[in-house]
Amino acid sequence: MSLSFDPDRLPLPNGHFIGDRLIPAENGLPRLPMHRPSDGRAYADCPVASADLVDQAVATAQAALKSSNWGGLRPRDRTAVLQRWAALIEEEAETLAKVEALSSTRPVGQLVAGDVAVTAEQIRFFAEFADKEGGDLVPTDDGSLGMVMTEPYGVVGAITPWNFPLSMAGWKLAPALAAGNAVVLKPSEMTPFSTVLLAQLAVKAGVPAGLINIVQGDGPTTGAAITRHPGIAKVSFTGSTAAGSAIMADIARSGVKPMTLELGGKSPQIVFADADLDKAAAAIATSVLSNAGQACVAGSRLLVEAGAAGPLVERILGHMRAVRPGPTWDAETRYSPIISERQRARIHAIVSASLTGPVECLTGGGPMDAEGYFYAPTLLAGVDQTSPAVVEEIFGPVLTVQSFDSEEEAMALADHPTYGLAAGLYTRDLSRAIRLTRRLQAGTVWVNRYGRSRDHILPTGGYKRSGIGKDLGREAYLANRRSKSVLIGL
Ligand code: NAD
Repeated sequence: MSLSFDPDRLPLPNGHFIGDRLIPAENGLPRLPMHRPSDGRAYADCPVASADLVDQAVATAQAALKSSNWGGLRPRDRTAVLQRWAALIEEEAETLAKVEALSSTRPVGQLVAGDVAVTAEQIRFFAEFADKEGGDLVPTDDGSLGMVMTEPYGVVGAITPWNFPLSMAGWKLAPALAAGNAVVLKPSEMTPFSTVLLAQLAVKAGVPAGLINIVQGDGPTTGAAITRHPGIAKVSFTGSTAAGSAIMADIARSGVKPMTLELGGKSPQIVFADADLDKAAAAIATSVLSNAGQACVAGSRLLVEAGAAGPLVERILGHMRAVRPGPTWDAETRYSPIISERQRARIHAIVSASLTGPVECLTGGGPMDAEGYFYAPTLLAGVDQTSPAVVEEIFGPVLTVQSFDSEEEAMALADHPTYGLAAGLYTRDLSRAIRLTRRLQAGTVWVNRYGRSRDHILPTGGYKRSGIGKDLGREAYLANRRSKSVLIGL
């Protein structure tokens, strides 16, 4: 059966989800108009939760933790419930995929085996941690019994972006719940629906109602009400560096609490002349064309050894010129629109501002001739370290190219003053790969490939202003538990 669907006939779970109830917009509060990225049509309004509604969500989460004793259950009982949730997500994959495709930039044809499957896998991955991580007995000075216990925090606050709504919700919900917490989560106001479905499926699978609460709204109203709430013991955020910085300041002003921040990036792709150029070109093109470059780890700065620049750029241009725009609800679509008209205008402003002096646009350079917010894959040559397209996180299908003559020069170009999220390195010389991997200021380094696979065990997070702490991996599980040191005199 084809996954293509009619966007005007898809039911959407529009509202907040608190306890086990879908709650429509509060009376008298403004709603945010929403437009479909694929055709620009207005199609829904996103409600904005007030601080009072966030308060209600936190109280519901606290009551659910108490009545279900979720944090005190045998860990394997939490595991079993979460595994049922993962199975249900797989059963409902088509519905989730369609709801996700309608509001986001993710084509429906990539979602069932992609984002939806990955979300179910993440839940299983963390569910299996619940009975495998414990505290430690520690040696003591005077023969007392010393131990480090770990405990859940209680209610965790989570805030997610629009670029991969389902899997970003999975990053937050899965480790928090497996570790015994409840969650109040705010998805992006541009992609509010799929997270509600995810929460509804959790309740259906037996996750106690009230452990997952979804509140809709913008950052300054609803997001800030979460981060400032005294009942939220910890905050987990994914989004831009600017918003992460505002959240840190907010948390510092309103009370001290731990936070993890997964923020922006401007990741280099470093290609040496001895690399397999066909493979490198395919990996680099995919990293800036997939989701039209709207990925935190988009490898948007190509640094190539001078001798290989011509042949590599030709190959990348081939990939870029082959893309075809299409609506996210068509199962054949592979190339995504940009999330909003505003974001597309921002991409274009950065590209235009970069076209000075020797800078040359080798392909693209503007909106595509199509319905919706499509932007043409764009390759800019002749840029330097001060070009806006090299400095700014563009979050679009734009690649810059610079060449180097030595490893030292490559490392100097790779080092971004602000970001350190990821880096790609392409060479057949293993010693060089390891030597340079050690020097790269990035939370993830991919060698002779680019982008995540289904490696949930590898933590993800940034150096520099790309973030604090990690999602995924053992670290994300542990970040959702706190330790208590105990000393028992014998
Ligand atoms: P954004 O920062 O504008 O918004 C992200 C979320 O934060 C939204 O839900 C928004 O409503 C909320 N928000 C904004 N200001 C807030 C505030 N002051 N207080 C509380 N909440 C606030 O980001 P976006 O445009 O939705 O997403 C794109 C950004 O996300 C890019 O910078 C990208 O690199 C980053 N991102 C990072 C990762 C990672 O793993 N490092 C993954 C995905 C996206």
